[in-house]
Amino acid sequence: MGIQIDLKKCVSCMACEMACGYHRDEGFALLSSCIMVTRGREKKDYSAVVLKEEENLVIARPEGVEVRKLGSTGKSDQDKGREDASAKPLLLREPCDLCSDRKDGPLCLQFCPVNAISLG
Ligand code: SF4
Ligand code: SF4
Repeated sequence: MGIQIDLKKCVSCMACEMACGYHRDEGFALLSSCIMVTRGREKKDYSAVVLKEEENLVIARPEGVEVRKLGSTGKSDQDKGREDASAKPLLLREPCDLCSDRKDGPLCLQFCPVNAISLG
């Protein structure tokens, strides 16, 4: 089971990122969050949500979801330059633990205003 993100619904509000930072640090510390909204530089109004799991980096884009094994990017140099700049800090963070210490489940899911996050 893991966090599923539907980028067709996502409005890039970053509530999930703030909620996860709060879960980690009991403060709105974005640097602690294992879910992150990234914005593309080349395309206007283009964003993705990246989630760090124990073994994978899950990248949800409007055109679909990509799962990368941590340690391998499998992308072209051009793509690497665009995405890794924002994904890199995420690699140093704790992976998603599905908010296992919360009886009400994932905090990011509860904060998403458009129900773009689910458990699956
Ligand atoms: S389930 Fe919890 S740990 Fe995982 S991304 Fe959401 S808030 Fe963060
Ligand atoms: S909280 Fe929901 S709508 Fe906002 S950035 Fe996260 S996934 Fe997207």
